Amino acid sequence: MKIRELTCDVLIVGAGIAGVSAAISASRKGAKTILIEKNSYPGGTAIDCRLQQLCGLYPKNTGIAAEIISGLKKLNPKNKFIRLGKLEVFSFQPENLTNVLRQLTQKEKNLQIYYNATITEVKNTGQSIISLKMITPRQKFKFTPKAVIDASGEGCIIKLSKAASLLAPKTRRQLAGFTFQVCKLRDSSGLLTLKVPYYLTLAAKQKEISPYLRFTNFTYLLRKNSGIIKLNLPAQSYLGQENTTKKYALLIHRHLQKVLPEFKNSQIQWLTKEVHERQGRCLWGKQILTEKDILSAKKFPHAIAKGYWPIEFWHPQKGQQIKYLKTNQFYEIPLECLKSKNIINLFATGRCISVTPMALASTRVMGTCIYLGEAAGKAAALLSQQIRR
Ligand SMILES: Cc1cc2nc3c(=O)[nH]c(=O)nc-3n(C[C@H](O)[C@H](O)[C@H](O)COP(=O)(O)OP(=O)(O)OC[C@H]3O[C@@H](n4cnc5c(N)ncnc54)[C@H](O)[C@@H]3O)c2cc1C
Repeated sequence: MKIRELTCDVLIVGAGIAGVSAAISASRKGAKTILIEKNSYPGGTAIDCRLQQLCGLYPKNTGIAAEIISGLKKLNPKNKFIRLGKLEVFSFQPENLTNVLRQLTQKEKNLQIYYNATITEVKNTGQSIISLKMITPRQKFKFTPKAVIDASGEGCIIKLSKAASLLAPKTRRQLAGFTFQVCKLRDSSGLLTLKVPYYLTLAAKQKEISPYLRFTNFTYLLRKNSGIIKLNLPAQSYLGQENTTKKYALLIHRHLQKVLPEFKNSQIQWLTKEVHERQGRCLWGKQILTEKDILSAKKFPHAIAKGYWPIEFWHPQKGQQIKYLKTNQFYEIPLECLKSKNIINLFATGRCISVTPMALASTRVMGTCIYLGEAAGKAAALLSQQIRR
């Protein structure tokens, strides 16, 4: 297979919510931008897990976040901000998000996107990335970009380029997760959000199911006869195993059919293909954001984003643990958390920026990932203007 060689200003790997935001922003700054995604669609974890709540958004939005929100509202008036206890989230129908991300990227004239494409090799001088190899089902490519953004969630460019990184052992990482959709529920009470975790906690206590399956939750979809079940699993319990999502979804679904009449004739309509990590490899940047920075609502001179979301750590044994910021407070994230400490032209965004595991438990949510993506795109475009090749 012949290798096609291409140059660009900014190359972004991963078209999750952070990568798409980075690509739009780099393109709008006039940078010749390439976005590479291994799936055939944009949206990453948000779409793979059919998530329904954009968390961590500012009360008032401008820029790409405002465009995403307005696009979602136009597609469905039921997509709107709602209050969940102390927090506000933007609730949306999962299928609408892919459409909005596609619409926004299609308008960008400096942006080229490759779907079904994976980066296989990164070449660097020790200080700077020179080239990356990519494979698609039909062709091989070699890119020579001026700046690179790792928006892969799992830190694949950080790893391949041997940039300094931060990675906790699997046993100490936050629980990973996946979702499945159930239809044909017979439910008049509207109480399944309470009943599902209650009956699964009972089953875990009686040792009928693994203890961490008690952290499973249920959310209704628009019609009350269908809903999404979210499971949370420790990293070491599934990595390297095939059909994990199918195995666990069947186990939980059969149990719910046994104990809850609402589920008796229900069916699994759809299932995430892979378990998704909340915590993986992060960049070791020029600065590392910490739990203390977040809880003290710290401000920085080179701030590029604000964070509103609490520290929501999915503990491997205790489940969801939340530490709130003080009311109406926010912390800032400095540009230094997006810049590699040893590779000059490497940036990270979204889930793999330079943070401690506890800080990641706040910065990883989708709203914050949009802000981080927009900032990374701008910074990489600016750097590419300063580099001559
Ligand atoms: C179970 C679960 C539930 C969650 N619930 C919520 C919620 O309700 N609300 C909320 O705001 N947040 C939630 N989150 C967190 C949030 O969804 C993610 O942290 C966020 O979407 C991460 O966005 P990202 O763009 O950084 O990464 P991702 O969405 O992971 O995107 C990375 C993209 O990179 C691609 N990629 C990876 N490697 C390569 C490669 N080598 N080559 C090409 N492409 C590659 C992937 O296919 C993917 O599309 C949840 C997370 C999980 C796991």
